[in-house]
Amino acid sequence: MDLPLSFVIAEGNDRIHNPVDSRKLADLGEALRLTPGSRLLDLASGSGEMLCTWARDFGLRGTGVDISTAFTASAKARAAELGVADRCEFVHGDAAGYVASEPVDIAACIGATWIGGGTAGTVALLEQSLRPGGLMLIGECYWRQDPPDEATVKGCYIESRASLFSLAGLIDHFDELGYDVVEMVLADPDSWDRYAAPHWLNIRTWLDEHPGHELADEMRHKLQVDRVNHVRYQRDYLGWGIFALMKR
Ligand code: SAH
Repeated sequence: MDLPLSFVIAEGNDRIHNPVDSRKLADLGEALRLTPGSRLLDLASGSGEMLCTWARDFGLRGTGVDISTAFTASAKARAAELGVADRCEFVHGDAAGYVASEPVDIAACIGATWIGGGTAGTVALLEQSLRPGGLMLIGECYWRQDPPDEATVKGCYIESRASLFSLAGLIDHFDELGYDVVEMVLADPDSWDRYAAPHWLNIRTWLDEHPGHELADEMRHKLQVDRVNHVRYQRDYLGWGIFALMKR
């Protein structure tokens, strides 16, 4: 049970595995008025940047669960580097169906709503770990602009146009699920670049260091296709945001 090596090659150096950059993540933490000692559960926590920096900056404590051994190891190293290892636990495992043993103040899933079978399922999953009155954080994509054709949909790695809402549609969807959206930060084309573009250098460097590797052809192909899809489609059409929700 682990993430395929191709992801680790492309994203292994990332601190944040989503198109919101470190400034936006810090802005969100501030906007949420987090209080020291609050407990955060982060499902699909990646390399743990949200929990680690919020532990350092706002005194949070918590647990991250992720299926990647490489990212979980990075998260532990980052917690040690920031001096918050005593307050941040990172567990390697499948977050699908994961429920905290004690209700938490903040329950998050940032950029992995497939673990609950979609947005609604992930809200339902996180709800099982959240104390009454707690804060839920969901990182999710939406159409920033209506995709004009099927090539755009596929270039954004989205199954079909109907798989995503518009931004207003996504907010309505949370509303229909019984949640008020109380804060959000959104990616923009520049922060998308901060996520996507470093992967090109990561892959290129890996290719130079691993000539003849069995994944070399696949990675060269990925470098070319991902780059085209990013500049042609994703950075303009694929919206992405972290939404803070409170149950009504
Ligand atoms: N929340 C992090 C990571 C987002 S990328 C961040 O914003 O930086 C998506 C993450 O989901 C990856 O770290 C991947 O390893 C993880 N993942 C995918 N399927 C998973 C599963 N079933 N259980 C736990 N983690 C999963």
